[in-house]
Amino acid sequence: MAEKEAAPVIDIEQERKEILKRYRDLLKACKRKLEKGDKEIIRKAFDVALEAHKDMRRKTGEPYIYHPIAVAQICAEEIGLGTTSVVCALLHDTVEDTDITLDDVKGMFGEKVAKIIDGLTKISGVFDQQTNSLQAENFRKMLLTLSDDIRVILIKLADRLHNMRTLDSMKRDKQLKIASETLYLYGPLAHRLGLNAIKTELEDLGLKYTETEIYDEIAKKLADSEPERKKFIQKFIQPINEILKEQGFKVRVIGRPKSIFSIYNKIKFKGVPFEEIFDIFAIRIILDSPIESEKADCWRVYSIVTDFYHPSPDRLRDWISTPKANGYESLHTTVMGPDGKWVEVQIRTERMDELAEKGYAAHWKYKDSPSAVESKENQLEDWLRKIREVLENPEDNALDFIDDFKLNLFAEEIFVFTPQGEMRTLPFGATALDFAFDIHTKIGEKCIGAKVNHKLVPLSHTVKSGDQVEILTSVKQTPKEDWLSYVITARAKSKIKNALKEEKRKVAEEGREILERKFDHLKLDFTVKNINSLQVFLRLPSPQELFFRIAKGAVALKHIKTWIKEKDNPVKIPKSEPTLEQVINQVRGKKAGEDALVIGDNLTKIVYKLSPCCNPIPGDDVFGFVTIGEGIKIHRVNCPNALQMMSNYAYRIVKARWTGQEQISFLAGIKVSGIDEVGLVNNVTKIISSELSVNMRSLNFDTHDGIFEGMIMLFVHDSEHLTSLMKKLKKVNGVLSVSRINPN
Ligand code: MN
Repeated sequence: MAEKEAAPVIDIEQERKEILKRYRDLLKACKRKLEKGDKEIIRKAFDVALEAHKDMRRKTGEPYIYHPIAVAQICAEEIGLGTTSVVCALLHDTVEDTDITLDDVKGMFGEKVAKIIDGLTKISGVFDQQTNSLQAENFRKMLLTLSDDIRVILIKLADRLHNMRTLDSMKRDKQLKIASETLYLYGPLAHRLGLNAIKTELEDLGLKYTETEIYDEIAKKLADSEPERKKFIQKFIQPINEILKEQGFKVRVIGRPKSIFSIYNKIKFKGVPFEEIFDIFAIRIILDSPIESEKADCWRVYSIVTDFYHPSPDRLRDWISTPKANGYESLHTTVMGPDGKWVEVQIRTERMDELAEKGYAAHWKYKDSPSAVESKENQLEDWLRKIREVLENPEDNALDFIDDFKLNLFAEEIFVFTPQGEMRTLPFGATALDFAFDIHTKIGEKCIGAKVNHKLVPLSHTVKSGDQVEILTSVKQTPKEDWLSYVITARAKSKIKNALKEEKRKVAEEGREILERKFDHLKLDFTVKNINSLQVFLRLPSPQELFFRIAKGAVALKHIKTWIKEKDNPVKIPKSEPTLEQVINQVRGKKAGEDALVIGDNLTKIVYKLSPCCNPIPGDDVFGFVTIGEGIKIHRVNCPNALQMMSNYAYRIVKARWTGQEQISFLAGIKVSGIDEVGLVNNVTKIISSELSVNMRSLNFDTHDGIFEGMIMLFVHDSEHLTSLMKKLKKVNGVLSVSRINPN
């Protein structure tokens, strides 16, 4: 028997060899780009990092240096970055975690490297520590610091990717925080930068740690169906391949399944079961074609494919003539495959494929290619410029910003033309007013309407791809409050808010003069003390708000007179609501000795509520969210709002778990669908009401064309109870699917 507390045996010699091996692998990955002197500088960075981190180990027990080496490897291999980035990646944690200073780095590696390291250190300062500040605010700062050098963002993404790949060794609550932040911020960012491979992996890993069960289930189904998929692709491509060869095309064909995350989204938001998602994979035909004939070649391949398989007329997407704003180029079509199944086919060249997987960094490789690529470099510049614009107009509320920003990230783009034929890119759903602000702030502010394809439309009109838009203006126009609901771009929103603020300031100025006259009339002194007293009496947030309302007539003489009557014998001010800090402290105090908020037995002292947005029931994986005034709200970990809460308000999250439940019942919803058979409804209700003696609250069945769909609201004791009930329902003849729905 070994001693009880033997530390894991570390073979230093073995480890040293492994470190060197990893370093050599890194060099191999850099090889393509190495110029004279590069190898030495990378070696120097490696030596510095190795020495600086020599006594540190990762949570896994491995030497710390494995991490910076891996991050550098991702930069070189998966993003295609060059020597400077590799050097920075190797050093990225040194200034933050070791004795090395920024000046040291500057002395050894120069200004540029030091600047990037500084950016990286700042991000992790605001990001990785549990601070009380809003994540969104930090995110804004991060982008502001970083838009000078896009490499800071790219290296940060590589860092995050490696951390996600090695998340297993972290504690559950850390996993949840990091994974939700990844889904909320880093996934969309990678997408916007056109880093498809990294975006997909970040999202899949994010899902793996936030919704492990579903992730495992989809992963298993994908693996199980792989042989079948391979056979199908074989069958699909065989006849085409012959013709392609005949015509001298060099192609690679891959049948790549969609990411687990995107399949999950389909299941979750469209309610389609895995087995029925027809486009679980796409067939990708990648041509080796010289840049000057790539467009023509892609269309020739398209023509060959559609000679064999009939295309769906409304499913052709030409991202070659008009690439997406993130640089994506490809030709997409959906055709009727051999077994009467629709199949998505993507046609692109090797260059386009590398661009789609590695993003803008891949452009550098094609520097000498024709103007098409040049313009895309400009698009990246354009993007950074837009971000900077929004950043320079900070909103009062950083959360608004992040949501606006996220909206822009997720939306697909549309292309709209000016009367002169200039093309502008806008997010899907943008309105004429968005377009006006996109052209120029002044045009937006004076906009009274638009002509879309020569037809008169209101400001709120949603424009579509291909529309030609002419903005009509009037010098008398000023931005209105309700404009905010007409626009969806972050740029237009922030411009309108600024203009409104300015407008309000002017009105308040008038109000101030009116109030001064009124005070005069009433023989009151126009002092700060009196103004404040009136403002507090009317429960207004600021003197400015008071002046504004005076000018608008919302505060009248009678209000002022009541105040005069009461100001000298004040009534007791009602006790205000506890502050957030007080609530948090109360919770923290209560849970001393407990590692989590326990819901169930000891619920006498702490006020909690089950959140109506996801209706958790005992047994669900849950967490508590501290609110002001309403105590703690319990949410399911997979609540649609959870990601946003966890990444923006990490400090307000308390762990929560269920304990021995009393016989309380909770409202839950089930959706049953299947084929209408005689007695089916009867069988379903029999199971629910008699067999498990649960209490049904409402039942709704709908049949059309032989398909029935039922919504059942019922009271159950816990999630186990609900699961077993759902299992029984699945066995009823004719029932095809049973799923849980929100009882609201
Ligand atoms: Mn790191």
